[in-house]
Amino acid sequence: MAVDTTSTALSDHEIRVVDRVRTDLLIGGSWGPAEGEATFDVVDPSTGRVLARVADASPQDGRRALDAAVAAQPSFAATAPRERYDVLMRAYALMLERIDDLALLMTLEMGKPLAEARGEITYAAEFFRHFASEALRIDGGYQTAPAGNARFLVGKQPVGPCLLITPWNFPMAMGTRKIGPAIAAGCTSVIKPAHQTPLSMLALGGILQEAGLPDGVVNIVTCLRAGEVMEPLIRSGLARKLSFTGSTKVGKVLLEQCADKVLRTSMELGGNAPFIVFEDADLDEAVAGAMAAKMRNMGEACTAANRIFVHENVIDAFGTRLAQAMGDLRVGRGTDDGVQVGPLIDEAGRQKVADLVADATGRGAQVLTGGEAPDGEGWFYPPTVLTGVPRDARMAEEEIFGPVAPLTSFASEEEVVAAANDTPYGLVSYVFTNDLRRALRVAEALESGMVGLNQGVVSNPAAPFGGIKESGLGREGGSVGIEEFLEIKYIGIAT
Ligand code: NAP
Repeated sequence: MAVDTTSTALSDHEIRVVDRVRTDLLIGGSWGPAEGEATFDVVDPSTGRVLARVADASPQDGRRALDAAVAAQPSFAATAPRERYDVLMRAYALMLERIDDLALLMTLEMGKPLAEARGEITYAAEFFRHFASEALRIDGGYQTAPAGNARFLVGKQPVGPCLLITPWNFPMAMGTRKIGPAIAAGCTSVIKPAHQTPLSMLALGGILQEAGLPDGVVNIVTCLRAGEVMEPLIRSGLARKLSFTGSTKVGKVLLEQCADKVLRTSMELGGNAPFIVFEDADLDEAVAGAMAAKMRNMGEACTAANRIFVHENVIDAFGTRLAQAMGDLRVGRGTDDGVQVGPLIDEAGRQKVADLVADATGRGAQVLTGGEAPDGEGWFYPPTVLTGVPRDARMAEEEIFGPVAPLTSFASEEEVVAAANDTPYGLVSYVFTNDLRRALRVAEALESGMVGLNQGVVSNPAAPFGGIKESGLGREGGSVGIEEFLEIKYIGIAT
């Protein structure tokens, strides 16, 4: 496969954008090195070359960060909602003002094409605007006791200091989706971005400072030894909440750790999204939806269509059109003009995709396009369509996290709903049909927190995002997103 890369050396402009980012830890409003000045490398996945070195926090650094969050909590909880609104709106405006540099930085450390990185910055900033307004709407109630002899005053208070852990696939949006509601609710936090993509979060730290966020409200800890640094913080009892986005495997470990001090938890975990195309669907719309659901972020998304079920009467036509559209995509370095598909995050990620494809073809799946990783630098994998993928293939059970669309045929609605639900995951499902009654029936029967009906993207800051079963606990975004950072306080008043 040809990788369309004009140059692999960083341009002067790219070097300047990377150099402007503070690479220290942000603790209590001050930037400083990690213990022993330890650092780790951040690598450009399109070349495998080192982009930057950032502070590698020790467990003691982590504790300093949590202490700073704990110290800032009482005064931050007492700020006026309007003050928190103002900070979030200033940060929102600054993110959009700097969108070009922020998008370039994200493309360099994560690989996604520039147009997608710009889309993510806009999406990420929108969480700040959305939660700014939510800060003004924290509600409560006043009620007469049924016996008439008391009044119930019900209000909400910030949960307290929070630990926030984010993955590499959406380096900015997964952060603002947590930091936004935490600030809006009056919570301080320690955030740990993924080691592959710390630069976006560090750039955001500078923006939050410029926006006037008080010292210690958001502390940023970058590190290579996530478990060693975070477990003592979770078990310390000083933090009151953990909000995690990442794999189900790590999420389960963290839930156990949280049990010790009964922390509030929000868990946004893995997915295995079914994408169902009924015989009566508009095939052009279904192909466009599949491209969006599969190829957003090169397939490295928890919401990615992972199992594409197509009615047996239309699977050939659908497969031909999808393979054509996938085969036409331009693969290359995300910074190059017109590139639509960047590299995968690292060698292990690419190898996993290659192994899953080999497993499926070994069980009889046919390759309609793609299917072979190119030689040369960078972790590229071509857009791939497989058809006739058996239901016991590994990729039907595991997140592919790459640009591979596996097609499987079905005959009846009952059969496809059962197959779609036959997974421990339950994040999102997609359904394409022009039959309204079927659409509602199937949407209600699917075991997932979200359903896209005739659309391939569901993410929206104003909508409640989250999964059921082993895809997680709680919701982010929407009007409920702030509730995850609030405790209900009831005061009984004698009358
Ligand atoms: P991951 O390996 O679970 O890592 C996620 C984060 O957890 C990273 O910051 C990682 O740090 C940290 N971490 C790893 N082990 C830890 C431990 N023992 N204690 C504390 N922190 C630990 O997942 P990933 O590969 O970065 O991200 C991909 C996964 O995220 C996929 O499963 C995807 O579906 C899921 N995801 C879910 C959503 C959603 O909203 N449901 C959204 C995006 C992604 P290091 O980077 O240092 O390892």
